[in-house]
Amino acid sequence: MAEIHTIVTGDEPAVAGDRNTIGGWPLLAADEPWPACFCGKPMVFFFQLDVPQFDGDHLLVFQCPVHDDAAFGPSQLPARYWDEAVDPYEGPFWRLLFRSSGTAARAPDPYVEPHRLALQPAKEKVDEHGRGRPGFKLGGVPSWAQSPEHYRCACGTDMVFLGQVPENFGFDMWPMRDKQGDQMQLFLGNELYILACPARCHPEAAWPVLQN
Ligand SMILES: [Zn+2]
Ligand SMILES: [Zn+2]
Repeated sequence: MAEIHTIVTGDEPAVAGDRNTIGGWPLLAADEPWPACFCGKPMVFFFQLDVPQFDGDHLLVFQCPVHDDAAFGPSQLPARYWDEAVDPYEGPFWRLLFRSSGTAARAPDPYVEPHRLALQPAKEKVDEHGRGRPGFKLGGVPSWAQSPEHYRCACGTDMVFLGQVPENFGFDMWPMRDKQGDQMQLFLGNELYILACPARCHPEAAWPVLQN
């Protein structure tokens, strides 16, 4: 069975320069502005990870604090799908970015309480329906909540599974901002399967598949 990495949330807070975090300081390209939604709002920075199966390339996941929704696309993804409008909106409300060398942003994300993430080597377990193990992980096989979905990148390459975030995974908000201990949701709390183009045709050639 394939080697995968399960992702574990640590208790210790993340600090600037950490590479595997929930919230905290995104490692963007030098002088890269903080990603903004089509509506103009700065996006929430949810998490970042070095991706072992992509030579340690760095994945960052953002979403608008207002436009928290599910997204669906055609199995043949259109040109520049990472910038394309997503019905009923004027543009995408999330960003899935790959950045090979990162520079810590000047300030941390203001919404999500920053935590370190740990990648732990594990073996994939695929059940009789072809579903991989559930949970927050990188590599292996999706644990599809519904039927498997397949997508082709605009460049003509079949997208591959990069990793997943489980359904209703809570991203804790800063306690001082939210006395109720609310949590931010990503894509309405749907299970998120991140697909990416193995040809690496563009540093944003990744697509979110959502199921529940
Ligand atoms: Zn927005
Ligand atoms: Zn591609």
